[in-house]
Amino acid sequence: MAIVFKRTKILATIGPDTSNPEMLEKLILAGVNGIRLNFSHGSHEEREEQIPWIRQAAAKIGKPVAILQDLQGPKIRLGMLNENTPVVKGDEIILDYAAEHNGLTFPVQYNLAEKVKIGEPIYIFDGKVRTTVIDIPSETAIKLRVENDGTLMSKKGINLPDTDFGGDILTPKDLKDIEYGLTQDIDFVALSFIQSPDDINNLRQILVAGGSTAQIIAKIETKAAIKPDVMEEIVKASDGIMVARGDLAVEAGAEVVPIVQRRLLAMCRKHGKLSIVATQMMASMVDNPEPTRAEVSDVANAVIQGADTVMLSDETANGKYPLETVAAMKKVILYTQDNAPVAPIHDLIAKNLQLDAISTAAVTLAEQLKVDAIIAETKSGATASNIAAHRPNLPIVSVTSEIKSAQQLALSYANRTYIRPDSAEAGFDLAKELKKDGFFGEDIAKVIIVSGQQPGIIGTTDTIKVRVLE
Ligand code: PEP
Repeated sequence: MAIVFKRTKILATIGPDTSNPEMLEKLILAGVNGIRLNFSHGSHEEREEQIPWIRQAAAKIGKPVAILQDLQGPKIRLGMLNENTPVVKGDEIILDYAAEHNGLTFPVQYNLAEKVKIGEPIYIFDGKVRTTVIDIPSETAIKLRVENDGTLMSKKGINLPDTDFGGDILTPKDLKDIEYGLTQDIDFVALSFIQSPDDINNLRQILVAGGSTAQIIAKIETKAAIKPDVMEEIVKASDGIMVARGDLAVEAGAEVVPIVQRRLLAMCRKHGKLSIVATQMMASMVDNPEPTRAEVSDVANAVIQGADTVMLSDETANGKYPLETVAAMKKVILYTQDNAPVAPIHDLIAKNLQLDAISTAAVTLAEQLKVDAIIAETKSGATASNIAAHRPNLPIVSVTSEIKSAQQLALSYANRTYIRPDSAEAGFDLAKELKKDGFFGEDIAKVIIVSGQQPGIIGTTDTIKVRVLE
């Protein structure tokens, strides 16, 4: 009998209702593999509590859990308004970085006068109020013509689909949040509204200089990032991508999103990068205990398309049914993986010829011999994620001495990690140890072990063994 665990992982955003030790433990037990801390909301003081709670819950359960710091990026918002303010088509309004709310002059959190050009569209409140820039009357103010009736409210987000930030997307808030993240046990840093690979390279320089080993996730949600010649370069520059479907739909049009999702998932597999499908996957479960048919279908399609991870936002941050949502998502993943295996890919880009060749051979052998699992000894996680890029339709048990690698592999397709010290012991039997520790079910009969002659040394993977267990 095969080992049953879900191969597509779940990343859950926490918010007011789920940000406590008991709920975090329940979410992880229900099937959550990673927690997203959305730095668009919340204070560093709150993070100071949440991060240890997540680590303690994960340790108690004995399951590595990833922590993803999601940076706000140039998600510009209106400032505080005196009151909700209706606007009508044809109104001329001012967004001013240096002013208070007064009539049709609205405060804004970023000096847009430095970036926008006359004629560019600006969407406010998730695209509900569409406007066009008609003038830049001062160094801090822009004048907009309103294109449809609507209401403006405090702190509502602003999208600038055609504005070029010229490689300067990290805001002062992001820089402070990055600095804070450097002092914390963070596994992934996601950057919102990236426009080019330079945005990823700039962030990487800051993280590396600060001694961080966090992986970088590019959130794909701008028109600039989905241009055909740019998208693949962004995938190559990052460690993984998030299909940030909420803002992508506002910036590029909702009809664009499914096609971009498919292209991005295929590109991530080709380049061996992590992929996360985000936003509104189970949106109706914010208020209802059951998902809609369309939501079930959406999750199943992401699984079939080979996403590493599916993400929950409001469902677990502010929803009435966070645990039911995770359980429903898990059920869809398990059923789908058993009934519609992810198609293998043949055009994985070889980055490390020996490692790629060994992973390809291990997956082929595993499928032909119908083994129950692939065990991968992995120091940095590279061997395990390279095997995962093939999307084998069976579990990958990654064995590492590095807790950081285990936490990062928590979001990687099909990986379940076993943490143990490196061993150079002759005749050491990993499969037997895993079985003895109860890591496999009793019925596991045959596994493949991918390892190196020098365990614990990165880049020395050179051996494939087939092991029949008594
Ligand atoms: C999105 O826009 O889909 C997204 C994931 O970003 P955020 O939730 O930060 O707006």
